[in-house]
Amino acid sequence: MRVSRERIEKDLKDLARFTADTGGRGITRLPFTPEDRACREAIIAKFGDAGLHVYTDGIGNIYGRREGSQPGLPAVMIGSHLDTVINAGIFDGPAGVIAGLEVVRALNDRSIQTEKPVEVANFVIEESTAFGKSCIGSRAVAGVLDYDELATLKDKNGKSLQEAFREAGITKKEIEAARREKGSIDSYMELHIEQADNLIRADKPVGIVTAIAAATRFRVNITGRASHSGATPMGERKDALCAAAEIILGIEEIASAKAGKDTVGTVGNVTVRPGAINVVPGEAELAVDLRDIDKDAKDMATEKIISLIKNTGENRGVKTEYTITASDTPVPASQRVLEKIKEAASEIEIPHLVMHSAAAHDAAYLAEVADMGMIFIRSYGGSHNPEEWAEFEDIARGTEVLLEATLRLST
Ligand SMILES: [Zn+2]
Repeated sequence: MRVSRERIEKDLKDLARFTADTGGRGITRLPFTPEDRACREAIIAKFGDAGLHVYTDGIGNIYGRREGSQPGLPAVMIGSHLDTVINAGIFDGPAGVIAGLEVVRALNDRSIQTEKPVEVANFVIEESTAFGKSCIGSRAVAGVLDYDELATLKDKNGKSLQEAFREAGITKKEIEAARREKGSIDSYMELHIEQADNLIRADKPVGIVTAIAAATRFRVNITGRASHSGATPMGERKDALCAAAEIILGIEEIASAKAGKDTVGTVGNVTVRPGAINVVPGEAELAVDLRDIDKDAKDMATEKIISLIKNTGENRGVKTEYTITASDTPVPASQRVLEKIKEAASEIEIPHLVMHSAAAHDAAYLAEVADMGMIFIRSYGGSHNPEEWAEFEDIARGTEVLLEATLRLST
């Protein structure tokens, strides 16, 4: 192999030292904390050691640039994020940044001069843990970050993201300046651990991502009539929770059998009022999350869920209302980048699975301004928990694919 498993392992273990005290329960590196700042300094030093020209944009995304031989060409960019959830593993995010860095070092080792520049990127605040919204840095790059909304995103102490940026000396103007023009980045690739078990089941170290799924989210409010659980005959009830139960099972059925083959639907939260053992529930509220990589299938499932909500209300004589709180569009990988990654994996004979990403990533936003592709790495123990684990050998194999794809895209 042209990439170094040892260097990748050392870097990931180095970065894992920058954590809040978790009592040994994985690592926690939230934005604007001392550990986050120290980690940023460490990656800047590592980029510098690899001979990269380091710069940051207005919102604090960090880039390391290796010039190409043809001035003026847009860069091939490889990136991910270094912030984590609470009690995270050491791979979700950092693996992608370090893989990019290792690609550059492998180019350096062989004195390979690419025509286009190669850049490695670290996007800020990818995790929604601290402020409740994900991919802040990459949304800014895509020009889809709403500055006014930042005032409404608050951490657990009530500080808004807008305030946190202001304290860090980052103003609206600077955040807007982080935006890149479409085409100013040639292509963007992100290596990330898989956050499910598809690669384990397929017994493959590497996944090649065809599309990133997107969510439609609903809040459903059901209003029946709260009444005495002993005194109200069964035929006289307007039980909001029974209606909610019917809707929950209906959503399961729609997502399982009446939508697209990749559709998944979840009711992750139910609030019942008044919530007493001796009262027929008068109100229920549901949080619905529907995801797909196929926009048409997701739209069709959305229509079916809306009909289900209405029909259930009518049949049960309860009032149902719904609000669609998010409706994002699934993001396909660019055919050009996808083909190069597939060619790369075949050329160097890395066993791989062609698959989609069920989770969101910075890559979904970079796709607004660059041709995008993603590489997944088999990961054990899930992610967003201390048990998350990828073999360094697998990351090295994925990085080798990334290197080969970079060579193909950068000339
Ligand atoms: Zn991640």
